[in-house]
Amino acid sequence: MSVLIVGSIALDTVKTPVEEHTDQLGGSASYAAVGASFFSPVNLVGVVGDDFPRSEFDFWKSRHIDSSGVQQVAGKTFRWSGEYAWDLNTRETKSIALNVFENFKPELPDHFRDTEFVLLANIAPSLQLHVLSQMRRPRFVIADTMDLWIETTRRDLDALLPRLDLLILNDSEARQMTGDTSLIRAGRVIRRMGPRYVAVKKGEHGALLFGPDDFFSCGAYPLEDIHDPTGAGDTFAGGLAGYLAGQGGGEIDFALLRRAVIYGSVLASFNVEAFSLDRLRRLADEEIHDRYQMFRVMSQFEVLP
Ligand code: AMP
Repeated sequence: MSVLIVGSIALDTVKTPVEEHTDQLGGSASYAAVGASFFSPVNLVGVVGDDFPRSEFDFWKSRHIDSSGVQQVAGKTFRWSGEYAWDLNTRETKSIALNVFENFKPELPDHFRDTEFVLLANIAPSLQLHVLSQMRRPRFVIADTMDLWIETTRRDLDALLPRLDLLILNDSEARQMTGDTSLIRAGRVIRRMGPRYVAVKKGEHGALLFGPDDFFSCGAYPLEDIHDPTGAGDTFAGGLAGYLAGQGGGEIDFALLRRAVIYGSVLASFNVEAFSLDRLRRLADEEIHDRYQMFRVMSQFEVLP
């Protein structure tokens, strides 16, 4: 089964204490789509300008990402630039140029409207709602969000929440949304705002998953070398959504979601090993499989017979 992914497609300039890369492929939908494509076909929705490299469309095709929902319009592609502090944890946004993103109104091609799995990657909640309104009968809807929307468009976000099966957000956003310092309480409170499940990402400390009756916590893969954390959250969301879609029509229970959280974490851990999507571009299925097994071994606390 396919997953429909809508979000930003950007040209990013990213600076870390040791490297800087200019105008490289980025954006929430770019990371999410490639992350998902390791498990299922993807229907991609977004907007780019006429300066956007044609080669990326070829790359998407090679990964079974249908880009017929990506509008290419006159003007410049969305630009984002960020700089990381020495710990690679704190990031400052240096500049944002919305460009063609400013007037973006996602219109889904007809053959996208029956897609069963939907990932509303990070964009304004009003656009996420607009996409959802065009879907016929989605089976499982996931959304990601960010501090900007919690702060500036809370009403739209609140309207979106009851329509979600799973909301993904990071620890600081969960605290911001609830005003609660306890992540456990925050996760539970956000669930009561509408989504059936809530996943809270904690960066290098792993992730939490909250369900109606269940709770799951996992660590992150212990990486020694991180080169560029940009897009880790988007890749996590994409890997998780793609894995669910790739499992086909069976029941989506908590056990499946736990595995999906691990696959999302595996994909995110690869993504931060290089700038932009460079690591994902050369990632092999066996590497994903091996790292998944590592997660399994690492989370085992009783000695196996
Ligand atoms: P993350 O590291 O998961 O926060 O995602 C970083 C990506 O989000 C970058 O590739 C940016 O292009 C993209 N991005 C930054 N600001 C926005 C925004 N306001 N709306 C949508 N995408 C954004």
